[in-house]
Amino acid sequence: SPVSPAPQDDTELAIEGALRPASLDAFIGQHKVRGQLELLLEAARLQHRTPDHILLSGPPGLGKTTLAMIVAHESNRPLRLSSGPAIQHAGDLAALLSSLTPGEVLFIDEIHRMARSAEEMLYLAMEDFRIDIMVGKGAGATSIPLELAPFTLVGATTRSGMLPNPLRDRFGFTAHLEYYDAAELEQVVHRSSLVIGVDLGPEARGEIARRSRGTPRIANRLLRRVRDYLLVHQVQSDVQAVSAALDLYDVDAIGLDRLDRAVLDALVRKFRGGPVGLSTLAVAVGEEADTVESVVEPYLVRIGFMGRTPRGRIAMPEAYAHLRIPHSDGGLR
Ligand code: ADP
Repeated sequence: SPVSPAPQDDTELAIEGALRPASLDAFIGQHKVRGQLELLLEAARLQHRTPDHILLSGPPGLGKTTLAMIVAHESNRPLRLSSGPAIQHAGDLAALLSSLTPGEVLFIDEIHRMARSAEEMLYLAMEDFRIDIMVGKGAGATSIPLELAPFTLVGATTRSGMLPNPLRDRFGFTAHLEYYDAAELEQVVHRSSLVIGVDLGPEARGEIARRSRGTPRIANRLLRRVRDYLLVHQVQSDVQAVSAALDLYDVDAIGLDRLDRAVLDALVRKFRGGPVGLSTLAVAVGEEADTVESVVEPYLVRIGFMGRTPRGRIAMPEAYAHLRIPHSDGGLR
């Protein structure tokens, strides 16, 4: 059989964890960022200090959390995971920062969604490893300085444009993660298939890679669906089986999913190719504007299906061709 028995803890989350590369060497693609990080970590090691704060931006699933884990692992430091939405008051951040051990790596995912009051506290913490705690109210209020253990902040954001400049400026290193090309994604699929025990040939791996929207997380997810399909149907693990499995999950030949196609379809038919505002477009597909902007749009723009203009989003000729809609009529009147 092409599929070996499932590992002990077969929850999707456990598998996602098992699929994370643990070192920079095992991290596929993003060569430039990898080289820069390597240098940053090595320089800190030679100087016996904590590495500079790191800001990672880019669409979800491209490896930001994984890189934070690698930074901690490669520099032999403990890692603390938190996220912007979990930090709704300055007090939340004060509690987090004051509990860090010396040299700890603090990962804050979706850092653009942190409370404003916490942001200001973070400026001082990042710069001087110190915070000021406000005690009391009104005229009698005083601030008590609190020394922090030195730490390395790794911030992740899908929207680096949403970060206030003073925060962005306090990161010593900023990197933008790009979508992966098909060859890199095939490597991700190959590596993961060995970990979860699915035997796939290069053609079958290539098919998964092509349909993964440039995103390792999606490649891994599609691989698990293919594994399910092979397990249930007990068929050859060839490209036909891969295609059948992915068709079943509404992933089209170029990897667009249901939401991608809904957005394109609305843009082309309902709004006659645009320009249309982001929030109007989001309402038309029943999705949050934030999701459309940070998950759907970047990829559609990247593959040349959608354009952004000052007046709104527009459909490009390639989108009409993919949806098989004649460009001239632009949809329903
Ligand atoms: P993000 O934090 O950017 O949303 P993650 O770091 O959680 O993305 O990565 C999502 C999944 O994709 C993880 O399971 C990870 O194993 C895999 N992954 C991401 N980047 C790579 C890479 N460069 N090489 C191998 N696997 C990767």
